[in-house]
Amino acid sequence: MATDADLLELHEHVAAVSSGRRSAEEGVRLVLDRIERLDRTLRCYHEVFAAEALAAGREIDRRVRSGEKVGPLAGACVAVKDNLATRLGRTTCSSRMLEHWRSPYEATCVERLVAADAIVIGKTNLDEFAMGSSGEHCAWGVIRNPWDPRRVPGGSSAGSAAAVAAGLCHVALGSDTGGSIRQPAAFCGCVGLKPSYGRVSRWGLVAFGSSLDQVGPIARSVRDASLVLEVIAGEDRRDATSARMPVERLGGSLEEPVEGLRVGLPREYLSEANDPAVNAAVRRAAEALEAAGATIVAVDLPLTEVGISTYYVIAPAEASSNLARFDGIRYGHRAAPVAGEDLAELYARSRGEGFGDEVKRRIMIGTYVLSSGYYDAYYRRALQVRRLIAEEFDRAFERCDVLLGPTAPTPAFPIGAQQDPLSMYLCDVYTVNADIAGICGISIPAGTTAVDGAALPLAVQLQAPAFAEGLLLRASRMLEQVMGTVGLAPAR
Ligand code: GLN
Repeated sequence: MATDADLLELHEHVAAVSSGRRSAEEGVRLVLDRIERLDRTLRCYHEVFAAEALAAGREIDRRVRSGEKVGPLAGACVAVKDNLATRLGRTTCSSRMLEHWRSPYEATCVERLVAADAIVIGKTNLDEFAMGSSGEHCAWGVIRNPWDPRRVPGGSSAGSAAAVAAGLCHVALGSDTGGSIRQPAAFCGCVGLKPSYGRVSRWGLVAFGSSLDQVGPIARSVRDASLVLEVIAGEDRRDATSARMPVERLGGSLEEPVEGLRVGLPREYLSEANDPAVNAAVRRAAEALEAAGATIVAVDLPLTEVGISTYYVIAPAEASSNLARFDGIRYGHRAAPVAGEDLAELYARSRGEGFGDEVKRRIMIGTYVLSSGYYDAYYRRALQVRRLIAEEFDRAFERCDVLLGPTAPTPAFPIGAQQDPLSMYLCDVYTVNADIAGICGISIPAGTTAVDGAALPLAVQLQAPAFAEGLLLRASRMLEQVMGTVGLAPAR
């Protein structure tokens, strides 16, 4: 009988399964047991594919026994954010609007994972349509932080991050439009990688802000995140924005420290408004990197503070257009017909019933900033600032290889503590600009802090130029080696 201690990191599990030292089926069973025990409280999963996952595990075991070659993720149990289309189960975006929707096709990233012999264990809950930073805006209820169930796991990839932290999978997929991979990874003590825009195909990702959205891994170590990225990255003919750039295979070089690494530490990132424990973690990370041979460079990123206002014009503008397809006729929840009602009224009632408040708020903001008379003042201006933000990063990266800072201004906050949408939006102050500029960023655990009798994870973020994931991951591994991981959340 397997015990909790048998829940290995992804790379160890895959190595053990491929060499026949461990059974993939037993690995699935262990994960399913933990889900059974812990997910009633945490609510990471919307749907779990127990029978299919066990069968997939058995098939991998059979192939290993008969000496067939298995893929680079053989036996890895992957949790998939429920805004990614899967053939198995439903794809709901945690919205009533798509409560019963079954996708006729599978997202490219999921297809590639399965082709690498990973096992899809289930679909994880999110803030509806990936709009949110707390996991509280999910049509199926609030998702909880496994480190302290009174607190939020962050969002919008709430279920994915909480599932990784609680050991309810080996690794998870999330999506990041303004921070939705990195911020929940930070709150849950995981590694969360947002690849450069175009690095991973968006085919099968339900669109939120199409010029910002990226899929990426949430994992328990840098090595695991790197393994998953290698499998899901790369050109896809079905997504015209996916990049032609070859995918760097890091392999053993992940462990090699980056010679002469220059780490930029922007003044603006150590704001007084941050929780002091967060700033202390960033300083500790800077010292640790310096001790490992890196040079710390002071840089200025004055446009950090306009990121949120720019993002909250561009993302809702794109969302208002992307979500127009959910009208109850082409897609989504349809309100019960009322005699004498015309089509516009049926659309309005269906959308009114199907979407939650935060989604409606975004659609209204987006429609407003795109409307004639306001387009120039808001949308066009936001696009201009977007260019300036990208140029500011370019200038910073002339002086350093990676940027170090916080992922989020605070550790995980209590459920219900952020009632004001604006204060919730400010959670993403350090993450949105990477999406706006299309560069890559990663959140890495940086120890824990004791709050209200619980140990809460702290995190730091590294950012690197577009398509410099190789460098980013090697620098991240250096940091992880000196800071250590925080391990699984205490099981309750
Ligand atoms: N929290 C941000 C928002 O609510 C980012 C979401 C995301 O990255 N998907 O829009």
